[in-house]
Amino acid sequence: MTLESGPSATGPILEVNDLAVSFGRGAWPAVRGLDFRLNPGEVVGLVGESGSGKSMTAYSLLGLLPFGARLDRGSILFQGEDLALLPPKARRNLLGRRLGMIFQEPLTALNPVYSIGEQVAEIFRIRAGLNRKEARARAIELLGQVGLPRPEGAYASYPHRFSGGMRQRVVIAMALALNPDLVIADEPTTALDPTIAAQIIRLIQSLTAQRGSAVLFITHNLRLLIGLAKRVLVMYHGLIVEELTDFQDLRHPYSQGLWRALPPEPGTGADRRLIPIPGQAPGPGELIPGCAFAPRCPQAQEICHRELPLLKTLAPARRVRCHLSC
Ligand code: SF4
Repeated sequence: MTLESGPSATGPILEVNDLAVSFGRGAWPAVRGLDFRLNPGEVVGLVGESGSGKSMTAYSLLGLLPFGARLDRGSILFQGEDLALLPPKARRNLLGRRLGMIFQEPLTALNPVYSIGEQVAEIFRIRAGLNRKEARARAIELLGQVGLPRPEGAYASYPHRFSGGMRQRVVIAMALALNPDLVIADEPTTALDPTIAAQIIRLIQSLTAQRGSAVLFITHNLRLLIGLAKRVLVMYHGLIVEELTDFQDLRHPYSQGLWRALPPEPGTGADRRLIPIPGQAPGPGELIPGCAFAPRCPQAQEICHRELPLLKTLAPARRVRCHLSC
């Protein structure tokens, strides 16, 4: 396998229109009408607190919604083909080949009874039609490319013998094995300490750039996206509230609150007080009139409790959903 080979798409890789997902047949909306697109090779961040709908967005793109959740409306155009209309088997066939997923908890993504190498080689055997010998060689090569020392030894080892960071490297190898056009990374560094997390982010960044894969990087940590994502979508209560390309220009009070709640960057010596966002993020079923952030917003006006603000386009790749923005 060569890392240089990659997709050749020219239009948007992904175009999501009015995507809505709910639990309980519409009773508990989790995603309430999302519109966004990803271009080939572009890394886009999707950020928000737990319950904002970002993971549910990812699962709906992959056709992996949990029991009780359903896609209510919208289209998911993946290289022009609407995934929402594909039967489940056809969607599963895309996984690994054209769509890669890096899960949050690598231990649950790996099978404890098979060796690391068998699990990676299986992708090449089943999905790419290679024989055992070829699949083994490709798996060992890939384990080396994701930075595992002594990849032949790693091939024969089992997941429980690896650290969290090494397991995540294996999951990345499996997600990128067949050079997918789009990779969805769902909080891939949450369970890792900051040093290993930084290594994993650099690894995802370099391998996907070499392949030309687009990446949707999901996180609750806005700072992680600096230097990684070209564009960021901020989600709150199932809606995009801001789209930005410049971290110095956060306009939505929720985005500003997320930023103020971050601890100072490690190693900078900065010593500033953390300012948490007051209150709790609402759950999927909570119906809040007007702007859903109003009960927690320091700038809320009377209109905010009455009317849902529109997502206004201020410039290309620059949208804000707030009554005060213009
Ligand atoms: Fe705050 Fe009002 Fe803007 Fe919502 S619309 S974020 S409540 S100022």
